[in-house]
Amino acid sequence: MIDYHTHTPLCKHAEGTPEEFIAAALAAGLNEIGVSDHAPWPSGYDSAFRMTAEEFREYHGIVASMAKSTSDLKVRYSLEIDWVPREMDEVWASVADEPFDYLIGSVHYTDDLPFDNPDHQTVWMTAERSSEVWIRYYELLLGFTGGGGFEIIAHFDLPKKFGNRPPETDEIDRLTTEILTAAADNHIVMELNTAGLRKPVAEIYPSPDILRKAKKIGVPITFGSDAHSPVEVAANFAEAVALAKECGYDSYTTFETRVRKTERF
Ligand code: ZN
Ligand code: FE
Ligand code: FE
Ligand code: ZN
Repeated sequence: MIDYHTHTPLCKHAEGTPEEFIAAALAAGLNEIGVSDHAPWPSGYDSAFRMTAEEFREYHGIVASMAKSTSDLKVRYSLEIDWVPREMDEVWASVADEPFDYLIGSVHYTDDLPFDNPDHQTVWMTAERSSEVWIRYYELLLGFTGGGGFEIIAHFDLPKKFGNRPPETDEIDRLTTEILTAAADNHIVMELNTAGLRKPVAEIYPSPDILRKAKKIGVPITFGSDAHSPVEVAANFAEAVALAKECGYDSYTTFETRVRKTERF
C-alpha cells in the first residue's frame, strides 16, 4: 500500500522527525510513502502554513535522506501545491527542474476565504454563503483539473470538513461531473484522503457518492493520510480500501518520476 500525502515540520503545523515518519510507514507495512509538504510561495502567499523559499533546498535534502535511509520502502518526492488562479507562475518557477515523482493540487481558499481554517468557519456557514463557497471551490478545482500540471487532486470535497455538506443542487452535481470528466481526460487521479475521518465531518474525502461517480467516469485513485504527525501515517487505510472496493475500484495508481503504474489491491 502507498501513503502519498504526508507533511513535514517545515510547514509550521506538522511534527515528527523524518526517521519517525519512516518508522511509522514501515510499521504500517507500506511499500511507498510520498512526502508532499505545502509548496513554498516566494511572494509570501499563506506564509504561516508553508516552508519558505529558502527552506525548499532543505526540504529536498530531507526527502532524499529519507529515501537513502531504507531499502524496505520507496520514498516519493512531491509537493502539495495550492491552485490559485493567476498566481501560479512564480510557484512553477520556484520548483522548476525538481525531480518530483508526482504533484498534488489542492484548494484551501475560495479567493480570500480560508474555508478550511477553524477560525473562519462561522463566517460562511449560512445556507447562502455555504452555497457560494461550494460553487466557488468547485470552480477552482475545475481550474486545475482542466490541465494545471498536477497528477493528483487533494481532498476533493474539503469544504465538508466541519460537517457542512454541499447543497444538493443541479449546479453542484454538474460541477462535480465536469471536474471528474476533466480529471479523466487529463489523466489526473483523485486521492482517498483519510484526514476527513479525524475532522468533525468524520468521513473520508471524497464522499462515497463522489467516489462512485469518479469510478463511473474513469478517474483512478491514490491513497493519502495527509499525516501532519507520524502517528497519522496510513491512518484508517483499511477503511479507505474498503470504501474504494465498495465503490467499484480494484486498483490504485503509483507514480515514479511522474510515470504512472496501476497496482491491484
Ligand atoms: Zn497542512
Ligand atoms: Fe491540503
Ligand atoms: Fe496536506
Ligand atoms: Zn491536505
